[in-house]
Amino acid sequence: MKRLLTIFAMAMLCQSAVAQFYTTQDFEHAIRFFNRPAERREIILPTIDGYRLYKADFHTHTIYSDGDVTPRQRVREAWYDGLDIVAITDHLEIRTYEKFMLKVLAPYSTGKPFKYQNAGIANKKDKSYPVMANLNAAYDEAVYYTERENLPIMVVRGTEIWRNTKSIGEFNALFLKDINAICHEDLFESFRRVKEQGGVIMHNHPGYTRTTTAIAEGEQERAYAEGWIDGVEAVNSTTLYPDIISRCIDRNLFMAANTDAHRPTSHDWPAGGEFFRTMTFIMAKSCTEEDIKEALKAGRTIGYVANNLVGSEKHLAAFINEAVTCRVVAENKKKGEVTYSLTNCCSVPFVLHRGKSIHTLAPFTTRNFTLKEGSQPRFVVDNMWHANEQHPTVVIAID
Ligand SMILES: [Zn+2]
Repeated sequence: MKRLLTIFAMAMLCQSAVAQFYTTQDFEHAIRFFNRPAERREIILPTIDGYRLYKADFHTHTIYSDGDVTPRQRVREAWYDGLDIVAITDHLEIRTYEKFMLKVLAPYSTGKPFKYQNAGIANKKDKSYPVMANLNAAYDEAVYYTERENLPIMVVRGTEIWRNTKSIGEFNALFLKDINAICHEDLFESFRRVKEQGGVIMHNHPGYTRTTTAIAEGEQERAYAEGWIDGVEAVNSTTLYPDIISRCIDRNLFMAANTDAHRPTSHDWPAGGEFFRTMTFIMAKSCTEEDIKEALKAGRTIGYVANNLVGSEKHLAAFINEAVTCRVVAENKKKGEVTYSLTNCCSVPFVLHRGKSIHTLAPFTTRNFTLKEGSQPRFVVDNMWHANEQHPTVVIAID
């Protein structure tokens, strides 16, 4: 009898499940519900010294160079990934997809077969690179899309100056007015044109393995010595270059952490995954080009990669102190102990190391720490990096 009842109950359940989709209207409603559009992932960060923290990626590629996605997809995913700022930095010299685009557009031409010319080949007569494409097109499309979709995200007009990876290295020119105008065979002339436009220069993936030559090393040193470089990637994609942190602090350069995304970012940082995509937190007055550039020039940045933070000791200590509230919840005079309650009010976890114990203070959680009376809540923060392989020791201020 019991068995029969179970079967009966199951049959009723099945019937009601079918009934949910009995009319086409219900069916359409259900499909719409399950296919609801993706949502932006909000990343909650503290305010430091009155500055808000803006989330930026200063290094991405699209099909207009060697990336796999369109500019509009770059801004759309940046929006979903919780960014405030995204730079489209297609290569000046590598445009893998151009020849395919030209094939598509061939019928519009004069009828003569296309003579494909790579912009990286210098014209002997004219020192400027023979740019045959409008290098601003990717940026223009990204801006057109953000405006059409009302996405409140800042798109930065940029480019990656690649030259020869076996020599001097790669640099991102950011906040440009006209990318076409910076093309020149001589790297330093390109740099001069970037600065003429009020642009910012960042040294990309400085740890990138390349065959170095004395000339290349000299040229790289010249780029720094002459003051062309404003910032360096301490993180590129998922690679951290710890030795770069000291270089940035010593030379007063901003530290950046960027994806250098060529594929869709969901490829490396799946939606809803444990980590956010790699990004740079910028302490700025507001999210305008002027204020962001001011913050970069002042070196007010913290790099984020896989729940690790990279920055100066001062900025990192301020970050954790603003993000974590600390209060005394119990005092045991007999045992000579004090219990502190620490609450993490931001989206980044903190790995707190004290003596032999290591505790993760996950985002939006509270943990109690019982310490000897008279000792401060002092921790080595294992997921923060302030110098070559070094983690800062911070005292969490009692609120
Ligand atoms: Zn790149």
